[in-house]
Amino acid sequence: MPAKILDGKAVAKRIKDQLAAEFAALKAQGKLAKLVSLAVGSDDGTNSYRKSQLKQAEALGVAYAMEDLRADAPESAVVEKINMLNADKSVTGIILQMPVPKHLNGESLAKRIAPAKNIEGIDPVNLGSIVMKQYRNVPCTPRAAVELVIESGIDLNGANAVVIGRSTIVGKPAALLLLDKNCTVTICHSKSKNLPAICRNADILVTAIGTEAGMVKGDWVKPGAVVVDVGIIDIGGGKIRGDVDAESVSAVAGFLSPVPGGVGPVTVQMLYRNLLDALKA
Ligand code: NDP
Repeated sequence: MPAKILDGKAVAKRIKDQLAAEFAALKAQGKLAKLVSLAVGSDDGTNSYRKSQLKQAEALGVAYAMEDLRADAPESAVVEKINMLNADKSVTGIILQMPVPKHLNGESLAKRIAPAKNIEGIDPVNLGSIVMKQYRNVPCTPRAAVELVIESGIDLNGANAVVIGRSTIVGKPAALLLLDKNCTVTICHSKSKNLPAICRNADILVTAIGTEAGMVKGDWVKPGAVVVDVGIIDIGGGKIRGDVDAESVSAVAGFLSPVPGGVGPVTVQMLYRNLLDALKA
């Protein structure tokens, strides 16, 4: 029997409905959420990302504002703008749109956002909060990967989890989140030896690699395992694929989160869950 599909769109819709109800309840108490998107210059990627952020904000009754600086803005001007937004009590969350122009350092600028307002969660304070189990703004993609599994009714307690990828944005936080769900976690990377053998031991296999479409094959997978494909690889013609070879893996796994349609749609909701938590704090 082919693997059951972990339907990211359906899970995202359920989460979106819950979020909408919670934002509405807070609004009734006079608590309004405002998300600010700060862009330095803009390109098609930024514009399309903003379009989907705006659509989602409207659906949730959240105020959404765009702040734009010129593409040649000096670092001091960006820092000044971030400081202003940090100090503005009406602003709940700030997103610095990436990539920033080459003369700027996006990572160090993002660290200037006050941790409470840094709803993408990629900064030392928010990442550290996962280690301390005092979750604040949790990075959206790894949170989405774990939520997708839990929301699909899969029990993680005591499971052997293997995460391929050790980036700050996805792999490491995903491993910590799974650990907190009582998984026994192994983290793999490009220097790992015997990768297929390690993966075959996984009840939950999370792939966050992004180098080669379909790299993870069916013979890497334990029969009945849950496979969560986080990878996004542009294969041209407007199409994307994941790290997992869906055909061979689907014949072995119990559950498979596909690309597209798996983790991606849930990731967007996690951004707004962080915004909601920031509003409540
Ligand atoms: P990085 O490039 O930062 O990290 C990739 C990781 O994969 C690294 O730890 C690297 O190991 C490891 N790796 C690379 N090649 C191999 C290999 N042959 N065998 C084992 N491990 C390998 O990427 P990100 O973590 O930022 O993103 C990972 C993927 O997730 C990408 O495809 C990205 O597009 C996607 N993504 C998806 C999102 C979503 O919403 N679904 C959002 C964000 C990202 P090493 O550390 O040794 O170099």
